[in-house]
Amino acid sequence: MSKESSAPPSDTGPLRGTIVALQRQTARLNRILEINRVLTGTLDIDKLLEFILQVSTELTDTEAASIMLLDERSGELIFAASTGSNKEELANVRVPLDGSIAGTILKQGAPLVVGDVTKDPRHFNQAAQKTGFLARSILGVPMTIKDQPIGVLEALNKKGGAYFGEEDIQVLQTFANQAAVAIENAWLVAALRKAYKKLDDLDRRKSDFIAIASHELRTPLNLILGYAAMLQEDAGGKPTAQVDGVLRGAQQLRSLIDDMINLQHVDAGSATLSPTSFNIAKLIDAVVDQSNDMARAKDQTIRVDLSEPNLKITADWDKAKLALNNLVANAIKFTPPQGRIEITCWLGNGEVQLCVADNGIGVPRKDIDRIFERFYQVEPHIARKHGGLGLGLAISKSMIEMHGGRIWCESVEGQGSRFNFTLPTDGPKRPRKGTTPLRTR
Ligand code: ADP
Repeated sequence: MSKESSAPPSDTGPLRGTIVALQRQTARLNRILEINRVLTGTLDIDKLLEFILQVSTELTDTEAASIMLLDERSGELIFAASTGSNKEELANVRVPLDGSIAGTILKQGAPLVVGDVTKDPRHFNQAAQKTGFLARSILGVPMTIKDQPIGVLEALNKKGGAYFGEEDIQVLQTFANQAAVAIENAWLVAALRKAYKKLDDLDRRKSDFIAIASHELRTPLNLILGYAAMLQEDAGGKPTAQVDGVLRGAQQLRSLIDDMINLQHVDAGSATLSPTSFNIAKLIDAVVDQSNDMARAKDQTIRVDLSEPNLKITADWDKAKLALNNLVANAIKFTPPQGRIEITCWLGNGEVQLCVADNGIGVPRKDIDRIFERFYQVEPHIARKHGGLGLGLAISKSMIEMHGGRIWCESVEGQGSRFNFTLPTDGPKRPRKGTTPLRTR
């Protein structure tokens, strides 16, 4: 009877060899994954270049590496990073595209191996003079993004005096392709950060301008209003067309300046709520009283329809009034003479809902979401027929959202608009999720 051996496979022979090869491949794949993770996660350009140098020498078993990036303006390659050197040392080292090893690689878009650089007249040794590093052999590969060259990656001096092989070329080229994408991402992020910083700067300057302008305008305006009132008194209280005109113009100016000042409070986050309990009908009456003159001047009617006349809410009177007043003023402004404006109010789900409807010009569908942004106006400013700074709705939105309410618009261009908002009846709530913060953008 023959005895078959059931011993485990020996740890020598072809199986062992396969296992070792598989382990090496797995380790390599893991390393590639790790490299990819770092490449895609590093957005600081200097750290990224440092990492690319480190990985290039590791993958090709070389002493050093260099990254040269194309300067599109001068058409030269600039040393961006090199093992063991600092940026300042390399800052002014520029490599011409013609007659240099790196330039040849970039122009031909293909890898190049130079076994002995001392024998290659294209070797450009300015970098060596700066860094003191002597190159013996070079493997260089192009870095491209969507077929556009952005630079060259070089691995220098294969360790132990060995030659660069086909595998080195393939590995470095594959890595250079990934590195190029990572470099472009880091550039894009840096450009985006710069743009955001510029925008923040502009936003701050705009806010400063609004703060200064509103302050500077208010003082002379109060003088005009004061003197116009005195002139009216001198005329025995009888309204004269001239004084009336001055007063109307000055009041219009005051409402613009008030918008600017209100926006400033919202911006600075200094707008706080002082809730009291009041009858919603009173709030609507106060706003209608304030707006009646404007509506009468355009021969418009304002109708109020309350489903519950004694409905009480707890809210900040001034801010709720400002929010409603802006909507009614807009309804008057954007509705032609003889138009109809209707204010309705009802209760539902612990909230009071108010609606200001008009049969005016309406808001085009594409603009409906944007009209609540600061300074957004449907009319292009060059061809504007209606006055205003484009702040009223942004202020109303802030005031309503501070209470934990919502505001929105429904409109059909050419037929009219319905501006709605809600307020919690039993006092302000935390602003809802999804409502925009007080600062836009
Ligand atoms: P302003 O009225 O000062 O321009 P708002 O922030 O109050 O600024 O309004 C922004 C824009 O929304 C207006 O310029 C106008 O284009 C549009 N809009 C607001 N209310 C109405 C309305 N009732 N009917 C039509 N368009 C309106």
